[in-house]
Amino acid sequence: MNQVRVRFAPSPTGYLHVGGARTALFNYLYAKHHHGVFVLRIEDTDLARSTEASTRAILDSMAYLGLDWDEGPEKGGDYGPYFQSQRLELYKEYAEKLLSMGRAYECYCTPEELDQIRQEAAAQGRDPKYDGRCRNLTDTQRREFVRQGRKPVIRFKADFEGTTLVDDLIRGQVIFDNNQLDDFVIIKSDGMPTYNFAVVIDDALMRITHVIRGEDHLSNTPKQIQIYQALGFAVPQFAHIPMILGPDRTRLSKRHGATSVGQFQEEGYLAEAMVNYLALLGWAYDDSQTIFSKTELIEKFSLSKVSKNPAVFDLAKLQWMNGVYIRELSLDELYQRTLPLFKSWGFVPQEVGSELEAKVKSVLRVLQERVKTLADLKEASCYFFQDEVRYDEKAVSKVLFKEGAAEILSSLLPELLAVKDYTQENLEPVFHKAQEQRQCKLADVIQPVRVAVTGTNVSPGIYDVLAILGRARACQRIKDALALIKSRQEGQVHDG
Ligand code: GLU
Repeated sequence: MNQVRVRFAPSPTGYLHVGGARTALFNYLYAKHHHGVFVLRIEDTDLARSTEASTRAILDSMAYLGLDWDEGPEKGGDYGPYFQSQRLELYKEYAEKLLSMGRAYECYCTPEELDQIRQEAAAQGRDPKYDGRCRNLTDTQRREFVRQGRKPVIRFKADFEGTTLVDDLIRGQVIFDNNQLDDFVIIKSDGMPTYNFAVVIDDALMRITHVIRGEDHLSNTPKQIQIYQALGFAVPQFAHIPMILGPDRTRLSKRHGATSVGQFQEEGYLAEAMVNYLALLGWAYDDSQTIFSKTELIEKFSLSKVSKNPAVFDLAKLQWMNGVYIRELSLDELYQRTLPLFKSWGFVPQEVGSELEAKVKSVLRVLQERVKTLADLKEASCYFFQDEVRYDEKAVSKVLFKEGAAEILSSLLPELLAVKDYTQENLEPVFHKAQEQRQCKLADVIQPVRVAVTGTNVSPGIYDVLAILGRARACQRIKDALALIKSRQEGQVHDG
């Protein structure tokens, strides 16, 4: 077999979404598995909707996911240019070829006339297809249209006889009746090619062997095959991958929450987790394995194990998987990846000295098990870095304003100030002693301190938290909490 050449061909009209990223990933994995070539082609012929910002966002998201392309923008290659907007001459050349072969023709119908054709068809219960009225224009008719200032489109002269077989690597043999087709437009009146035409010219000239794309394009495939055949190009293998649905089983969209890869990146999803999760949207290796490194995916991926059925995007599963990958990181790696975030939240300055680095690592060590995304660290760690504690009102009224809390805090305070070596190990006995003296639950001693120093009633182990905070800050917060309790008691006396 010739070398495998696949491509991902996004239209730069928005961000890279989960569906596009999954298509890119399947192409990437297929190429790598077969030691082939992964081409990135930007389909930017829709001038009104394509933007450079979108191209940038797509390239950035691909880079974040580590889906490096072998040929394409910023890389070059032997089959460029890789932007469709820079290939217009090629589309023109092949459209002219079809014209001269009699497999295409100029159509001068106005939008109003086309509308009328559609309405008539609808009234008669037929498909709203173009009726081919410009197929056989005489020179006189053509000249008259030109004189009227009409600009033609170029239509492909479709073959309406028989059937077209799409031998799909995932969907099997799908047979389309050619009488469903019409003479579709290949070059618009502004000279731009349509998707169905440009995609064939590019896939053929770029020597694409396998077209792996979303199932929404299956119905375009017979049109494309007819163009391949008319131009004598080899038809590539097709593989149409299943759609991605939201939990309500409608097509995944913004309504379902974050769908752009950039958003997941911002929310602190690790690329490894995203790639692993995306791979499972429509593909499975066996019933048991869910965690795959990229190397393993490359080794194990095959189109034969891609499902025909739609895949459901399950955010909870992605979050779980992200947690798995976060816990797998070494402390140093976790530190490297989160430092930019801590800086962006203003928790640490641009320059981080060794003492602060040690503190950040201690924080990460106690939180690594507890977060699902890196962005969760903001909420979970703010009290380690900010001077002011943000009190959670519920926790305050439930724990701090509970009878006995002030007594516990004020008796622990001198003990904490007196601990010789202020470490996690030496703090623990202080709390146990307080518990024994009162014959209460350990939690009754711990919770008021937890709310006092973190503002909330959930945190990592209290001894860890106190040790990382340091004696001065921890004790100051206990004093602040005591003041808060006192001011409330006084307020109540006045109110009463
Ligand atoms: N630009 C098309 C899209 O984004 C490409 C489809 C294809 O892969 O043929 O849907």
